[in-house]
Amino acid sequence: MRPDRLNPLFAEADSLEGVGPKLKKPLEKLGLTRVRDVIYHLPDRFVQRRAVTDLDEAAEGEQIVVALTPVEHRAPRNNRGPYRVLAQDVKGNVLALTYFGRASYTAKKQLPVGETRWVAGRLDRYGDMLQIVHPDHVAESSAGLMGHLVEPVYSLAEGLTQPRVADLVAQSLDRTPELPEWIEPGLLDKHKWPAWRDALALAHRAEHPEARDRLAYDELLANSLALLLVRADNRRRKGQPLQGDGRLRSKLRLPYSLTGAQRRSIGEIEGDMAQPHPMLRLLQGDVGSGKTVVALEAMLIAVEAGAQAALLAPTEILARQHYDTLRQLAAATGVQIALLTGRDKGRARESILIGLMDGSIQIVVGTHAIFQETVGYKNLGLVVIDEQHRFGVSQRLLLTQKGKLTPHTLSMTATPIPRTLVLAQYGEMEVSQLDEMPPGRQAIDTRVIAVERLPEVVDGVARHLESGSQAYWVCPMVREHESEDIAAAEARFAALQHRFGDQVVLVHGQLRPEIKDAAMERFSSGGAKLLVATTVIEVGVDVPSATLMVIEQAERFGLAQLHQLRGRVGRGSAKSVCLLLRSAELSETGKQRLALMRETQDGFRLAEEDLKLRGGGELLGTRQSGDTPFHIADLEQIQRLLPLAHDDARLLVERDGGLTGERGEAARLLLYLFERDWGVQLLRGG
Ligand code: ADP
Ligand code: MG
Repeated sequence: MRPDRLNPLFAEADSLEGVGPKLKKPLEKLGLTRVRDVIYHLPDRFVQRRAVTDLDEAAEGEQIVVALTPVEHRAPRNNRGPYRVLAQDVKGNVLALTYFGRASYTAKKQLPVGETRWVAGRLDRYGDMLQIVHPDHVAESSAGLMGHLVEPVYSLAEGLTQPRVADLVAQSLDRTPELPEWIEPGLLDKHKWPAWRDALALAHRAEHPEARDRLAYDELLANSLALLLVRADNRRRKGQPLQGDGRLRSKLRLPYSLTGAQRRSIGEIEGDMAQPHPMLRLLQGDVGSGKTVVALEAMLIAVEAGAQAALLAPTEILARQHYDTLRQLAAATGVQIALLTGRDKGRARESILIGLMDGSIQIVVGTHAIFQETVGYKNLGLVVIDEQHRFGVSQRLLLTQKGKLTPHTLSMTATPIPRTLVLAQYGEMEVSQLDEMPPGRQAIDTRVIAVERLPEVVDGVARHLESGSQAYWVCPMVREHESEDIAAAEARFAALQHRFGDQVVLVHGQLRPEIKDAAMERFSSGGAKLLVATTVIEVGVDVPSATLMVIEQAERFGLAQLHQLRGRVGRGSAKSVCLLLRSAELSETGKQRLALMRETQDGFRLAEEDLKLRGGGELLGTRQSGDTPFHIADLEQIQRLLPLAHDDARLLVERDGGLTGERGEAARLLLYLFERDWGVQLLRGG
């Protein structure tokens, strides 16, 4: 249970004054549902304003505070036009205060003709006219505004204004209690970090790198601490030692021999599974490095030892594909494998549930449906989680509550993660790396092409299809509204269908599952030649005869994501091509990123470089800020402070693993504050 002293912070945002149903929505859009979220809604930047006596003193583009006297109100000529208030400075220079939409009501009230007002805003020019669009403040005296010469700028959603957010932040800070210190005092001194509550207040008031660092550090510390508590808890847990005798594995008829890396990983997994506490291992391997067969070997070990294994996939498409692959590979072993997804209903589902209960089904593949309340296992010994970055640590913990004894867990990811982020994401696990590709893979010929050359690209696709090969066409998911992205993908599909007829199929996240599967099925069986898709094909889809991929608006994707997408081709022995279509206007960093894609196919190198480029401040695309588990710490801070936080957390867990000492108690508050309280729950269980 959350400590009482944190309750004010976890009160709903609509308990703040002035937040009614109307504001609730935009606040939710920003993720601000509780007071806690509001205090952590840190400014994107600050405006620095200059007080000027007249407009001659100010430069265009400058943020100013100036005294103005309205001389005339001009209503718009039509609905769309702005409402303008013409006003004079002390020298008689005229400027327009310009308002769009409903803001004009405010203008009417605040700016009576003939009465001097102090106005704060950005000086611009519109034609020959100086103007300030939507002044930030209008006040009757200078006193009010002079205190606002430095002001935070918050990210907003429609319906919110800067002053409104500033007010909510102020109210929230008022309700924020002082909390005992969880950071080691030496560290605090060394970096001159303020205390927690002070740091929050400072970070909202002005640029304050120490305050921002401290708050970022808190978040990193909370994360590391929670992960290390999971790790410690795991060591205390009883697991089921599973030692296979090899009788099933020896019946596998693989069409290739395993790479050294696969063999090594299997060995590491085998070693873990034989232990009396549960395995917590991550199998990290680039796209195409051959993780599936490693998973299969692990599952067969479990079955040989008399237990069951479950493979959890993030999507139905992937679950189905894994099911097919595993059944083929394991056909000679006689092992019973079942597929269970959310769509299975009625009798088919019943019989699978019975099979899992009585143990006649030894391996089950599925989506998270396999872990629903109603699904019981006879003896679940191993859980394999594919593409595990889609599941949070807490979800993972839930999964392992299934067996009587905690099952072994093998997580698999193809996301090449820079070293620093491995700690952040998987700090509780041991890591096996598939750092060797199966032999015979050809380099994927990657080219960057301006979108103006789209017609040529389509001709290229036509030649490719005529030669009997298949291709992917990827449309990005980047707009604010998913429906617009879907519309864009559908429009592209329609255009390509117009040219290529029913050889083209479409897959996106909003299609009914049956339709999606049918399309995928047609493509993987070779019936359809061109698959138009959003990024749902990002992970795992395996169609070796597809050797061309076109990616639209490639600059909008993260490099890691582009890399994963590109990994869908180059799966067979034929030469593959990836065409990255880029927009006409591309920033320098954008160019560099795409050039990197052309240069290397090493996912780990791409991830490191991407982090460097993005750490420099540029964020492109919408998913990129979301690929770390952090909201406060930015990439630069993660790189600089995470190793520190991780060591600090390790020391704390070593010295006070129960978090019962003074600092330990404070650290519990920290875990709740950053909602890593599953870390605390474990303490009670253990
Ligand atoms: P991923 O790591 O992306 O999940 P997969 O397990 O899907 O990779 O394997 C990619 C492809 O490589 C599959 O077609 C698989 O049959 C093949 N493969 C896996 N291991 C080997 C190997 N040792 N030698 C040759 N091909 C392999
Ligand atoms: Mg895979």
